[in-house]
Amino acid sequence: GDVTRKPIIAGNWKMNLNHYEANLLIQKLAASLTGEQLEAVETVVLPPFTDLRTVQTAIEGDKLAIAYGAQDISKHASGAYTGEIAGSMLAKLGCTYVAIGHSERREYHDETDELVNAKIKAAFTAGLTPIFCVGEGLSIREASGHVAHCTAQVDAGLDGLKEDQIKQIVIAYEPVWAIGTGKTATPEDAQEVCGAIRARLAEKYGSDVAEAVRIQYGGSVKAANIASIMAKPDVDGALVGGAALDAEEFASIVRFK
Ligand code: PGA
Repeated sequence: GDVTRKPIIAGNWKMNLNHYEANLLIQKLAASLTGEQLEAVETVVLPPFTDLRTVQTAIEGDKLAIAYGAQDISKHASGAYTGEIAGSMLAKLGCTYVAIGHSERREYHDETDELVNAKIKAAFTAGLTPIFCVGEGLSIREASGHVAHCTAQVDAGLDGLKEDQIKQIVIAYEPVWAIGTGKTATPEDAQEVCGAIRARLAEKYGSDVAEAVRIQYGGSVKAANIASIMAKPDVDGALVGGAALDAEEFASIVRFK
């Protein structure tokens, strides 16, 4: 990552940990990371909705420099949408971030680029910062279509947003073939797509905007591979799944330097 952008490491807990277990993981992270380490790298956890109150209480109670957010958001502001969670509800619980367009949402819940775009707008309306996920599946990678696929997802997701909103956004490049598979992209693979995304942002919105946006890599990130990935100029952080459930492992990832 570039020194002008603060590194951001986010743990996506997915559908793991009840609120008791969530509390325990926050306590362990607090015990493993110093204030200085948390100052150097923006550290974020994305627990299930049912854990958010507990995570808020643990973090606020000890004044921990850990940000938190949700894994999804409704495109609607409120109303008769049974089972949905509005951005304003997440903001009231102190959430800073919300993951949008994760490949598991796109794949198992048929989320389209259009819906992802609507959710990004809903997040900004509620004062939340999107962690906007893009990434190609294996067949696209094998046909060398990964750069075009990811930049098209970026274009579609950011459609109609204002420049000051785009500057704030975090984009996570997560090749689907690397998620939960133990098959990490090489640092060069990560740089190729993260660099192409930044170039696309520069082309559309200017270099000021492109240089401000933080771009994460995600997919089988662990303590053993984080440093080489973070060494790449256009990789500003990581979105971590499995390894974020282990406090020691996640703390080591945050201490990547
Ligand atoms: P993983 O998941 O680290 O378990 O591969 C990453 C993600 O899906 O965000």
